[in-house]
Amino acid sequence: KGRLTIAGCGLHPGHMTLETQSLIQTAESVLLVAPNPLSIQHIRQLNPHTEHLGRFYNMGYSRPEIYRQMALYIIDLVHQGKSVCVIFYGHPGVFVSSTRMASRVLAGQGYPVAMLPGISADACLYADLGLDPADTGCQSYESTRFLLTRRDVDTSAALILWQLGLTGEHSMDKFEPGKQGLEALCKLLQMDYPSDHQVCLYEAPTLPGFEPRKDWIALTDLAKADVNTITTLYVPACREPTFAEERLGWLGLTETDIS
Ligand code: SAM
Repeated sequence: KGRLTIAGCGLHPGHMTLETQSLIQTAESVLLVAPNPLSIQHIRQLNPHTEHLGRFYNMGYSRPEIYRQMALYIIDLVHQGKSVCVIFYGHPGVFVSSTRMASRVLAGQGYPVAMLPGISADACLYADLGLDPADTGCQSYESTRFLLTRRDVDTSAALILWQLGLTGEHSMDKFEPGKQGLEALCKLLQMDYPSDHQVCLYEAPTLPGFEPRKDWIALTDLAKADVNTITTLYVPACREPTFAEERLGWLGLTETDIS
């Protein structure tokens, strides 16, 4: 009888989909990770059997251990035969490891597992910055991963860096950037982009009706930027893409045929 459904509640109560709302109302047990009190209150009103998993953040665990403990807790409730609904802020499958861990284990054991999407931070970013990823294409990375692994950065496409506020925090037990994280990221980006390239520190509102943070700064100022746990970095493309002539040739085309 146990089953798991994972859903996203968006970044504020106005983002809740009707599908997720009805799931919450009918679930036997609702587990919740939402950073804003209004979403917590809203979900508790929809279903009084709601438990906020925020407590796992205050138990002295490292970040990977917090996510592992959450996953184990979810798995245990499903094993007890409960129909469990887990609600994460934003989209529940975007930069959320505990849900993935729990669904992998439970699906492997034959339990029904499903995920409903939610409005994620990048969905809000596209809306608030007036962007369409179709224009230039878009690269999306976790900031510390981007910093510490070799990448061919495509400067003709946009770049989104998540968890900017944890850049270089390799100990995995703090919720702030590592000591030289932003400086190192700034140095790395300046190997591909001009120092005066304008980049945006973006924060979607977590309450309906509020304005987003859209601080455009010169790339060189990123090292000293004021960031927090919800800041996402947007780096626009700094050049036009070049056509691959041989591939135009494959289709019998030239550059002038492409608008
Ligand atoms: N599941 C979430 C989603 O779908 O947006 C993402 C969770 S991830 C663990 C946390 C990161 O998401 C933050 O470090 C930040 O990059 C981004 N984020 C979360 N809330 C945000 C907000 N209000 N505005 C901008 N970015 C946000």
